[in-house]
Amino acid sequence: MADTPSDPASLAKALEDSRRESHELRSELEETNRGVLALYAELDAQAEQLREATALKSRFLAYMSHEFRTPINAIRSIARLMADGVDGPLTEEQHKQVGFIQTAATEFAEMVDDLLDLAKVEAGRVEISPAWFEMVDLFSALRGMFKPVLTNPEVNLVFEEPHGVPKLYTDDRKLSQILRNFISNALKFTPRGEVRVSATCVGDRVTFSVADTGIGIAPEFHQTIFEDFAQVKSPLQKRLRGTGLGLALSKRLAGVLGGMVDMQSEPGVGSTFSLTIPVRLEQPQDNG
Ligand code: ADP
Repeated sequence: MADTPSDPASLAKALEDSRRESHELRSELEETNRGVLALYAELDAQAEQLREATALKSRFLAYMSHEFRTPINAIRSIARLMADGVDGPLTEEQHKQVGFIQTAATEFAEMVDDLLDLAKVEAGRVEISPAWFEMVDLFSALRGMFKPVLTNPEVNLVFEEPHGVPKLYTDDRKLSQILRNFISNALKFTPRGEVRVSATCVGDRVTFSVADTGIGIAPEFHQTIFEDFAQVKSPLQKRLRGTGLGLALSKRLAGVLGGMVDMQSEPGVGSTFSLTIPVRLEQPQDNG
C-alpha cells in the first residue's frame, strides 16, 4: 500500500499532483473527443458521398439502359424482317447468320431490361402493384410461358399442385419474374432429369422452390451467387454465360416483396433455389 502523507506540506503537494494529473487526463480526453467528432464528421461526409455516387450510378444505369432500348429494338425488327424474307429469300447460311444476330440482340435486350430493373430497385423507384390471386393461375401461366422453350426431351418441367396455399396478396408480376429467372436458370443448367416447381405455406409465409437435377454449383460460389454479375467458373456455366444479373435482381425483387431468396446446391446432384414471401404483402405506410 502507498504511504499516505501525514504532514500538511506533503498533503498539499499530493493534492496538487493529483489535480495536475486529472487536468492532464481531462485535456487528453477532450482531445480524444475532438478526434472522434472529427472522425464522425468525416464518416458522415463519406457516407453522403457514397449515397450520391450510388444515386448517380443508378441514374446512369437507368438512362443508359433506357437509351439502349431503341437501337436494340431496331436491330431486332430489321433482323426479323430479314429472317421472314420480306426483301427476298435468304440462303441457308444467311438464315443462320441472321439467327445469330437475333439471339445476340435478344440477350442484349434482356441484359438491358435487367439493368434497368436493378437501377430502379436501387433507386427505390419500383412500383409495387399487389393484387389477390391464386397460385394455380400463376403456375399455369408459367407452364404456358415455358412450353415453347422446352426443347430438351431429357428434361421434365414439373409444376406441383400447390396444396394448402391460400390466395396470395402480392405483386404477381414481380413474383413471376423471380420464378421465371429460377426456372430458366434451372433449365439451362440441367442436361437431364427434371426441374420441379413447388409452393408450400407455413404460417403467414409461402415458400416457392425450384429444384433441379442439374450440374449444381460448387460450394465456393454459394456465398456470392446472388451478387451483381456473379458467375460460376465451370466449363458449362461459362459456355451458357448470361449476364450474371438475374439472381441479383431476384434477390432485390424478393426484398421488395418483403421476402428473401435462398439456395442449396451440390455439384453433380442439383440445385434448389427458393423464395419465401409473406402471403399478404404489407404496403409501406404512407405518412405523407
Ligand atoms: P446468368 O444470366 O449468368 O444466368 P444469374 O444471376 O441468373 O445470371 O446466374 C448466375 C450464375 O449462377 C449463372 O451464370 C450460373 O453459373 C449459376 N447458376 C444459376 N442457377 C443455376 C442452377 N440452377 N444450376 C447451376 N448453376 C446455376
